[in-house]
Amino acid sequence: MPTFKKIKVPAKGSKITYKNGKIEVPNDPIIPYFPGDGTGPDLWKATQIVLDGAVKHAYAGKREISWMEIAAGLTALQWYDKDTVLPEETLEAIKEYRVSIKGPLTTPVGGHKYVCLVCSKEQNELNDKRPETCISCKSEWVTPRFRSVNVGIRQKLDLYACVRPVRWYTGVPCPVKEPQKLDIVLFRENTEDVYAGIEFEKGTPDQAQVYEFLTKTMGKKFRQDSGIGIKPISETGSKRLIRMAIQYAVDHKKPSVTIVHKGNIQKFTEGAFRDWGYEVAKTEFRDKVVTEAELWDDLNGKLPAGKVLIKDRIADQTFQQLLLRPDEYSVLATPNLNGDYISDAAAAQVGGLGIAPGANIGDGVACFEATHGTAPKYTGLDKVNPGSLILSGVMMLEHMGWNEAAALIIKGLEAQIASKRVTYDLERQMPGATTVKTSQFGAEIVKNMESFRTPVAA
Ligand code: NAP
Repeated sequence: MPTFKKIKVPAKGSKITYKNGKIEVPNDPIIPYFPGDGTGPDLWKATQIVLDGAVKHAYAGKREISWMEIAAGLTALQWYDKDTVLPEETLEAIKEYRVSIKGPLTTPVGGHKYVCLVCSKEQNELNDKRPETCISCKSEWVTPRFRSVNVGIRQKLDLYACVRPVRWYTGVPCPVKEPQKLDIVLFRENTEDVYAGIEFEKGTPDQAQVYEFLTKTMGKKFRQDSGIGIKPISETGSKRLIRMAIQYAVDHKKPSVTIVHKGNIQKFTEGAFRDWGYEVAKTEFRDKVVTEAELWDDLNGKLPAGKVLIKDRIADQTFQQLLLRPDEYSVLATPNLNGDYISDAAAAQVGGLGIAPGANIGDGVACFEATHGTAPKYTGLDKVNPGSLILSGVMMLEHMGWNEAAALIIKGLEAQIASKRVTYDLERQMPGATTVKTSQFGAEIVKNMESFRTPVAA
């Protein structure tokens, strides 16, 4: 076991291990969690009782999670020192224990160098030093503003796939007529594309150098007063993401994987993403997949049973298709920017932006997370919807192969929404619904689960 400065490793429980490209989960895994900031602790309490309740009921006590609290964001500043929002031992724990779950984390932003954690006042250096107390509320919690902790976790641990399942839950209000037809899992590349952070600001010496190179040496033409951004999409990054998406489709018996791209315009980045995707499919999954071209050229349009169809679609067409013919799509693999847009649009289509789950997954390491922020105005009010974090927990259980517990939670959540006893955000859209607190919502899901007869599966 690693020795940590502040993290308390539970006395009982075992580590999840990783062998031959797969995680191996004991019956008593230790799972690191961060409750998160703002409303995070309320959300986490409700989520934990639901996850524990489902595991207990599904496996009659034969399986149990040992939770291990770790810290990032504001909690890290309290546990460690004022400058550490993403401590090394937090990263070490996520890596070492392989499966973790996190609530939302605060990312103070703005053009100033420091921010007060008590009153959020942004402020500059004082005499070339960090202000010792806040200029507004005089607290000592003045800290350098920091980049997104979430981005830090993804990059430092190379969690290269952002995975977002999007489906409708019976009773959730939504803007389309047949929301049940959308049931997709989106694999978005998490490390490259315009998010790689290679940008040059107009008017800077770096921009002038890049402009000079591109116009004089490479003979390209564009306006000199441009900001310049670089969009790297690599063969390595694309192939590992698409490989994970196809493997998921094979493992979960999904009918198709659609490679989404803008290759008609950006041939050597987005177009290459598509080509590398087909290459992975045909060389690494040959006996398990059929491409769309093969389907029509050789198979008369009939997909043989048990095969996964590999197809591709232009990104803008994908938005239309998901609205008009959603049931023709199942697993999607996308570069970073397209995936960002498509996952939010698809979640909104089924009314579930507030209850959309997510995960960041790399080779042998996965961190599951609520996709919304900390909703700071509701901190401590026991008010917000824990659905996103609970469903991220469902994804986590599925990732661990604990599918019976995961299915139980979905059933319990659907029964709760059907009862119309929901948190304020759903209540305001559901005629005749009653508002319940975060904690009640979680506790009532546990009661629902307990009312179902469940075969013991372990
Ligand atoms: P936000 O926290 O997502 O909140 C925006 C609004 O969304 C809330 O005011 C609320 O709407 C609704 N909402 C969010 N979570 C909800 C929940 N669980 N149940 C019901 N409604 C919910 O976005 P933000 O205000 O832009 O960001 C606040 C902080 O969160 C920032 O520090 C940001 O950096 C951070 N953040 C973290 C993550 C992450 O950790 N993954 C993601 C995004 C943002 P109503 O006001 O209409 O009720």
